[in-house]
Amino acid sequence: MFIGYTFVKKNNLMNKTITIAKGDGIGPEIMDATLKILKASDAPLNLEQVELGKRAYLAGHTSGITPESWDSIIKNKYLLKAPISTPQGGGYKSLNVTMRKTLNLFANVRPCKSYYPYVDTKHKDMDVVVIRENEEDLYAGIEHRQTDEVEQCLKLITRPGCEKIARFAFEYALANNRKKVTCFVKDNIMKQTDGLFHKVFNELSKEYQSIKAEVMIVDIATAKLAERPEDFDVVVAPNLYGDIISDITAQISGSVGLCGTSNIGEDCAMFEAIHGSAPDIAGKGIANPSGLIQAAIQLLNFMDLSDTAKMIENAWKTTIEEGYHTADIHNPDISKKKMSTDEFADMVIANLGQKPKNMMPADYSTGKSIQFYSYHRHEHKKEALGVDIFIHHKGTDPQFFGDNLAKAGTDKLQLQMITNRGVKVWPDGFDQTFCTDHWRCRFYSMDGEPVSAEDILEAYRSCLSHGFDVIKTENLYQFDGKRGFSLGQGQ
Ligand code: NAD
Repeated sequence: MFIGYTFVKKNNLMNKTITIAKGDGIGPEIMDATLKILKASDAPLNLEQVELGKRAYLAGHTSGITPESWDSIIKNKYLLKAPISTPQGGGYKSLNVTMRKTLNLFANVRPCKSYYPYVDTKHKDMDVVVIRENEEDLYAGIEHRQTDEVEQCLKLITRPGCEKIARFAFEYALANNRKKVTCFVKDNIMKQTDGLFHKVFNELSKEYQSIKAEVMIVDIATAKLAERPEDFDVVVAPNLYGDIISDITAQISGSVGLCGTSNIGEDCAMFEAIHGSAPDIAGKGIANPSGLIQAAIQLLNFMDLSDTAKMIENAWKTTIEEGYHTADIHNPDISKKKMSTDEFADMVIANLGQKPKNMMPADYSTGKSIQFYSYHRHEHKKEALGVDIFIHHKGTDPQFFGDNLAKAGTDKLQLQMITNRGVKVWPDGFDQTFCTDHWRCRFYSMDGEPVSAEDILEAYRSCLSHGFDVIKTENLYQFDGKRGFSLGQGQ
């Protein structure tokens, strides 16, 4: 059965009018420099400028975007955005998070390359692309305070989300002549959520035999990435890990001022520099426009305007190679001249048509574009086997608490175990285990047969009538006979 969304091939999205937003701080300076280069390269683009950021926030739009700006982005599909400043203080929502979720921009792509010896870096041969899942994970923003002592954040990983991002990573690798995709997860601990990400990655890797696929545990993988980035090619990760590792890769490549990033959705795409609005240097004319220029190159490529993208990339590389550098990467031992933002853009324009002499010229010769696919929802047989009842309890003796709570068991559901912060404390806990006021109490079908919603409600009511402070419940399901919940640590 087909439900869910339909992906379309990117070529069907062709639309040569793009929306641009000049943003705040250094935003207008670097956007003007970038637009000047686009104009000189004869990029076949119409521009529609909208207001995003500080002025929209201060005009009372709490997400930093006006309704007219939304209309323009949705109509044109492509947004080239300069950084914005989020005003300090409560009540203002992150524009980036709002845009990613509203426009379904599920993939964040951040190529990080070193330009040694022209830009100083410890990693001469680094050329990594981090592809970060952009909508799910702990960033779903579902958080609750449950007891005096405990706050919770839900980590949501979905099969459609995993399929979209894993497939995108392989498609990106194919379209960009990349050889390897490494998936970063922590499924030795989060066996279900990260386990699903890993499983889907493995499933889809079989469809991309020409690309080497590997899976690594995120902690050691990040350490290796920071030490030897040249060993990595394309990296794909769930949202939180992707957020962290993409900042690390950008930082170690040489300068945050050099990287552009794209946020890709099924219907829209947003391109920007990775850095912020740099208020400390705003208005001085010294900002490096390279991050936004790189974002514009990514946009041109995504729109199948690869010849223009290539021309600008080659001119930019030539400029960097010739030693014309803005202050952030200027080094008297390497650079020929310290350039203002505007001078740098003029030098890139002067170099349009040139190829770098030492750096690898731009090459998008695969001629392949990223293909998007349909997601097909699968249905499974779901049966409840019990319920985890979470209780706010201020006592510190698990044995006493568990023996009393066991009396709340019903004909169908009996207390099987209690955990505190995930560690089993009843029955047979350890005296050494520290306990907070938040207890997960598992009531389980003692004969192993499925139970009904009414059976679960009865167990809930029984806990209440025995005087326990129930704060939430989580049903325990099996899917097609396979357990869909984790065991307690020590169970
Ligand atoms: P930042 O990236 O703006 O600045 C960090 C440092 O890097 C500063 O010293 C700055 O001068 C320097 N820098 C940044 N870009 C540069 C460039 N192109 N050329 C030369 N130097 C550059 O980070 P921040 O100071 O933490 O944030 C400032 C503002 O930017 C905040 O309001 C923040 O919310 C916003 N922000 C926006 C975005 C976005 O719109 N995508 C991203 C990050 C931060």
